[in-house]
Amino acid sequence: MSPSKVSIPIHDSQEVEQKIRKELDLGSEVVTIRRNAPAAVLYEEALKEKQTAITSTGALAAYSGGKTGRSPKDKRIIEEETSKEEVWWGPVNKPASEKTWSINRERAADYLRTRDHLYIVDAFAGWDPRYRIKVRVVCARAYHALFMTNMLIRPSAEELAHFDEPDFTVWNAGQFPANHNTEGMTSKTTVEINFKEMEMIILGTEYAGEMKKGIFTVMFYLMPVHHNVLTLHSSCNQGIETGDVTLFFGLSGTGKTTLSSDPHRALIGDDEHCWSDHGVFNIEGGCYAKCIDLSAEKEPEIFNAIKFGSVLENVVFDADTRQVDYTDKSITENTRCAYPIEYIPSAKIPCLADTHPSNIVLLTCDASGVLPPVSKLTPEQVMYHFISGYTSKMAGTEQGVTEPEVTFSSCFGQPFLALHPIRYATMLAKKMHEHKANAWLINTGWTGSSYVAGGKRCPLKYTRAILDAIHDGSLAKASYETLPIFNLHTPTKVNGVPDSLLNPAKSWVEGTAKYHSAVDSLAEKFIENFKIYQDQATPEVLAAGPQV
Ligand code: ATP
Ligand code: MN
Repeated sequence: MSPSKVSIPIHDSQEVEQKIRKELDLGSEVVTIRRNAPAAVLYEEALKEKQTAITSTGALAAYSGGKTGRSPKDKRIIEEETSKEEVWWGPVNKPASEKTWSINRERAADYLRTRDHLYIVDAFAGWDPRYRIKVRVVCARAYHALFMTNMLIRPSAEELAHFDEPDFTVWNAGQFPANHNTEGMTSKTTVEINFKEMEMIILGTEYAGEMKKGIFTVMFYLMPVHHNVLTLHSSCNQGIETGDVTLFFGLSGTGKTTLSSDPHRALIGDDEHCWSDHGVFNIEGGCYAKCIDLSAEKEPEIFNAIKFGSVLENVVFDADTRQVDYTDKSITENTRCAYPIEYIPSAKIPCLADTHPSNIVLLTCDASGVLPPVSKLTPEQVMYHFISGYTSKMAGTEQGVTEPEVTFSSCFGQPFLALHPIRYATMLAKKMHEHKANAWLINTGWTGSSYVAGGKRCPLKYTRAILDAIHDGSLAKASYETLPIFNLHTPTKVNGVPDSLLNPAKSWVEGTAKYHSAVDSLAEKFIENFKIYQDQATPEVLAAGPQV
């Protein structure tokens, strides 16, 4: 047989299995352990569960049960001597005791030990070998295993053979509830991270996104604390010929995934990155795209990535044809698909760039329609808006959000931050200064009128035209006007975008007076929100906010 035909064994040797059984303290109740099983095997197993199906394009459709979005109120960090001084304690990172951890950890592990079948995914987080961590996921649902196989960085057969002990382990016992009598529990759900033990447990939610965002929080802690590397809630792409790198920051639903997949640019990643002294690297090996109203016309790259190996979560499909109805919101608005990043034709593997970003794009989805579709930011304005992290939270990604709400989420990723926001902002300011990146604020939300007044979101084709103008360098050279109050500098012309759209004062359908009162009202919310950072921000950054 020629070497190319040698097949890679898909099951580990008895020896590896025994080692894992011992490490995880698994008894004979667990009949099979599948470690890094291929998609085909995970499909076969997942299909044994009720409702799980293969869709007409070959994706695996699975359901997460009652929770169809993250549960930020149930996220906890264990307070112990290593984390005590570092973590940004408060509503984002609620402390839990080591005692609570040991009860919940045992509950999760014990639940998993009662299963006939367990799945283990051993893979990496972080594409730069200098900084990557070895992650182990232990779970009982095949769809969760396939999800994390897609979302983490898949090891080669060689890397898997030498994987050895993981740096971090996720125990996903999401099918089993937390006990509300346990000290500190406020519901049946808990997502807990223990930095001393380097473990995470999940009880009472099967939403797969908890696992990937949990690893993200781990990186938000480990990278700055141990490596002086900045972790970012951003997508990233790179000019195919020019090699220039763009970061897109933004909260959920603002367009990170949509805008980073661009046929003219190589995709580095759609959600989680790190910026080191060497450049930018993606944390993940896959994308987790929203599917609501997805269409082949508007988002062909994502549409075509939904095929064999991809996991569709909480979508509705036709019982006869198995065709997915992407417009159906009956289960949730937060329908999702997780696919390996190489399913996007323009993905760059390995997902990293050894150049520093030349453009920083802050994405906001402004439902009030006040912010212009694009403005060029001064370095102080970038800091102000990065620390503020304004968007209108749209329905879906979090449990219970059904109407757009004004949200300020520092660093455009407050739910995932492990340290105080100013620590990340200071690192970003330093890096941007060193590497002289241009910065932009893009409103992918409402323009010309607000959501409540029945207005429309900025058409995607215009946002894409704006990005083209950023990337071809024309926008940096355009002529600008300054809008009062927010003092944002907006271009008067952008190729492919109607002039009238660029200045909301001109495009506002309900008239100028209504527009000005909407500006004032949003500005006041910015000012109110920034009060908590007033003591730590420089006078220049404070002055870069709205002035009323
Ligand atoms: P998450 O952090 O939850 O993954 P995200 O920032 O990646 O969120 P996307 O998945 O890109 O957000 O979602 C943006 C959604 O908004 C998509 O459904 C997209 O079709 C829609 N959309 C509508 N208009 C625009 C626009 N002008 N720019 C970007 N996206 C738009
Ligand atoms: Mn996304």
